[in-house]
Amino acid sequence: MRQSNMLIPTLREVPKEADIPSHQLLLKAGYIRKLASGVYNFLPLGKRVLRKLETIIREEMDRTGAQEIQMPTLQPAELWEASGRWETMGLELMRLNDRHERKFALGATHEEVVTSLIGDEINSYKKLPLTVYQIQSKFRDEKRPRFGLLRGREFLMKDAYSFHETYESLDEAYNRLFEAYKRVFERCGLNFRAVIADSGAMGGKDTHEFMVLSDIGEDTIAYSDQSDYAANVEMAPVLPTQEKSETEPKPLEKIETPNAKTMQEVADFLGHSLQEGMKAIMFKVDDRFVMVVTRGDHEVNDVKLKNLFDAKFIELATEQETIDVVGAGFGSLGPINVPEDVEVIADYAVKPLVNASCGANENGYHYRNVTPERDFEVTQYADVRFIEEGDPSPDGHGTIQFAKGIEVGHVFKLGSLYADKLNASFLNQEGRAQTYIMGCYGIGVSRTLASVVEQFHDEQGMFWPDSLVPFDVHIINLNMKKDEQVDLAETVYTNLQEQSFDVLYDDRQERAGVKFNDSDLIGITHRVTIGKRANEGYVEYKNRKTGEQQDIHVDELVSFLKTL
Ligand code: ATP
Ligand code: MG
Repeated sequence: MRQSNMLIPTLREVPKEADIPSHQLLLKAGYIRKLASGVYNFLPLGKRVLRKLETIIREEMDRTGAQEIQMPTLQPAELWEASGRWETMGLELMRLNDRHERKFALGATHEEVVTSLIGDEINSYKKLPLTVYQIQSKFRDEKRPRFGLLRGREFLMKDAYSFHETYESLDEAYNRLFEAYKRVFERCGLNFRAVIADSGAMGGKDTHEFMVLSDIGEDTIAYSDQSDYAANVEMAPVLPTQEKSETEPKPLEKIETPNAKTMQEVADFLGHSLQEGMKAIMFKVDDRFVMVVTRGDHEVNDVKLKNLFDAKFIELATEQETIDVVGAGFGSLGPINVPEDVEVIADYAVKPLVNASCGANENGYHYRNVTPERDFEVTQYADVRFIEEGDPSPDGHGTIQFAKGIEVGHVFKLGSLYADKLNASFLNQEGRAQTYIMGCYGIGVSRTLASVVEQFHDEQGMFWPDSLVPFDVHIINLNMKKDEQVDLAETVYTNLQEQSFDVLYDDRQERAGVKFNDSDLIGITHRVTIGKRANEGYVEYKNRKTGEQQDIHVDELVSFLKTL
C-alpha cells in the first residue's frame, strides 16, 4: 500500500483523555479513533491487526472442533427475562424498543440466544457434544469506560459455548478450550497467566481467567515464583504451615487500653508488632453471628468465609450488633468469653500464636499474653484470610508473588443454569428429557489487541510481534524529489510485493524526520530506507525491535528479508 493515500492519521500530540500507553499510541499512530465514550473506529492499520488476531483465534478455535456461527446483536427481551438477567444486568445492558414498543437488548453476551438456539435445534444426545463460537461486537454500558479499547462500551469478543450430556464431556471440552486459549495468547507473544478465578454469581464451578501481566491491570494475581500456579488473590488458598512457637505462655492479663482501637494503635500501646495481635471481626452468616479471628497483620477474605459456611449471604455485623452480642464495639472485640451460640472461626495462622493480644469484649480493654485454646475455645481453624506475598505457594512449589493483570480471556463451566432457566432440553441416552450441561468461553478481542501494545512499546511507539504486525515491511523514501531514489523505491516496492511481502510504502512528500517518527510510531518490524546511497543501489535496513541497522544492496534485499 502507498502511504500517501492510506488513512493513517498520525498525531504529534498525545490526546488528553488517553492516560495509558496502548490508548495513547493506538490513537497517535492512527490505528483507532473515538466516536463516543467507549466506542471506537478501527482505521486500516487497526483493522489489519484485528484481522490477524481474529485469524489466530479462528484457527485455534477450529482446531478444537468448534463451529463458527453468527448470532444477532439485537435480542428480544423475553430471552433475558427468562434467564433473569433482564433484571440482574441492570444498567450495563443496553436496551431499546422497536416501532411496536417491543423491548430488545443489544447483546452483552450470548448465553440466552445460544441456549435458545441449540435448545430448539438439537433434540438428541447423538448430536452432542457441540461447541459453537462467533466473533462479534458486544455492548455493555460500562460504568467507567476507560483505557481506550481495554474497557469499551462496544467491543469485540470471541464467545464460544459448549453443550453436553455429561460433566465428563464438559471437562474435556473445557480442557481443550483452555489449551486453545493458551495457544492464542502465546501466538500473540503475550506474557500471561491462566489464573484460577472466582465463579461468583454466575453459579458455575471451575473457571479460569487469562491475565496479561501489566501494571495497569485492574486485577491482582497471586502466582508462584517457581511453578505455573496462579490464582486471583481472592481465590488462592493459604496452607497451614506454621509451627507453634516455643515461647513459654505467660499468665493472661487484662489491660486498660484507652483510645487504642485499631490494630496498629493497640500494638503501639502494648509495645508489640502487628503479628503479635489478634484481630476479631464479627460477621453475620445467613442468620447467625460468627466471630472470625486472624493474626493482626492479616485480612479476612469473605469469599473464603462464605464458602466455608456454604452460606447464601454474609455481611459484617453492625457495631450495635456486636455490642448486643458480646458487649463491646468494634475496637475491643475478642474471642475470650463469647456466648456459646457464637462460633469462633480462627485462621490457621492464629493457631501457633503464644502470648498474643486481643480485645476483651469490654470497651477500652484488651487482653495480653493470650494463647489460643488455653484462653479461648476455637470452634474451627480454617483458611479465612487473603494470601500475601511471601506465603508458600498453595501447590507446594515456590513462594507467592503478586502481579497486576488485564483479563483477556475467560473459560467457565456453566453447568445447566441457563438450560434450566430457558427450558432447553434433549433426549439423553436413557431416553429421558435432560437439560444441557454447558460451558462458556470468551476472549476480549479488542482488549487483547490493546494488551499487546501495553507489552510491546517504547518511547517512540509500538512494535508488533510478527504474528500481528499490520505490514511485513515498511519502505521509506527519504526524498520524493530525487528521481534515482523514487525509481529505486518503486523497484523495491514492486519486487517485495511480487515476493508476496505485505508492504507499506511511505511515498509521501514529507520531511525525513516526519517519516521516521511515524514509522517508529506505527511499529512495523522491518524498515527499508531509500536515501543517499540509492545511486549505488544500496538501501538501509533497520529492525524496529532490536534497533539493528545495516546497508544492503537491493539485489540481496529479498533473500535477506526472507531469512528474517
Ligand atoms: P471485566 O471484569 O473486565 O468487566 P467480565 O468479567 O465482565 O470482564 P466476561 O463477561 O467474562 O468479562 O467477557 C469475556 C471477555 O470479554 C473478558 O475476558 C474480557 O477480555 C472482555 N471484555 C469484557 N468487558 C469488556 C469491555 N468493557 N471492553 C473490552 N473487553 C471486555
Ligand atoms: Mg464486566
